[in-house]
Amino acid sequence: MRALPATVLAVCGLLASACGSAGSGGSAAGQAAPAAAREQASASSSPMRKGPEAKPLDGKVIVIDPGHNGANYRHPKEINRQVNILTQRKACDTTGTATNSGYSEAAYTWDVSKRMVKILEGRGATVKLTRDSNNGVGPCIDRRAAIGNEAKADAAISVHADGSNNTGHRGFHIIMPKKIDGPVDKVVGASSKLGIAVRDAYRKGTGLPYSNYIGKNALNYRSDIGGLNLSTVPKILFESGNMRNPGEAAKFQDPKFRQKIALALANGLQHYLNT
Ligand code: ZN
Repeated sequence: MRALPATVLAVCGLLASACGSAGSGGSAAGQAAPAAAREQASASSSPMRKGPEAKPLDGKVIVIDPGHNGANYRHPKEINRQVNILTQRKACDTTGTATNSGYSEAAYTWDVSKRMVKILEGRGATVKLTRDSNNGVGPCIDRRAAIGNEAKADAAISVHADGSNNTGHRGFHIIMPKKIDGPVDKVVGASSKLGIAVRDAYRKGTGLPYSNYIGKNALNYRSDIGGLNLSTVPKILFESGNMRNPGEAAKFQDPKFRQKIALALANGLQHYLNT
């Protein structure tokens, strides 16, 4: 983090809640186990036929937006370009934050998002990411929103972790859209429902506390987040915790904990989509 240009970092620092977080490991977890059905073999010796088994997220489309990108810090001009987010103009993207030991938010969000893809696809969902690597630039926040819209996602989630320099700040929070007299208005209610489902699943699955410095009961409604303002599908921006808090940083840097995070987020999405 210290290697990043100060000008770029400043952009992120202003956005206490749009900058960063970390998680844990694991990979094949989280899939429903339909194995029992296979045990119901007939007494005959004919080969068992594995018919297509219904999965809980069959037919659902989910867009996962891993916050930031690994090479953003090397392209300040591109990521500082101003884009229209309806309520204001705002930078295309930011670098994101990092733990004190240098594990970047971009690497964290990329890792957790890929884990989520595996879990959710295993449950039958069609999943799309807003970027395809962690060594590129962008896309800009308006494009990230458009990807969810174009996919006609049933649910979309931006994965982030925060970077508050007050190391006593800890816990996670969820940013959801507010009505802005714009296209997002029609999904404000659904986004709130999605946010609450993900909040509950994350707390249960990771044991991390609600933020002690942003939002109420981990819920924060804002009208200055481009990725939300421009969304026409239910969407939230998830802030996994504070990467600058040593205890939370250690968790985010642990692949096993990142798997736990991915599983919890997938469970929250599923709960929303199945109710
Ligand atoms: Zn972020």
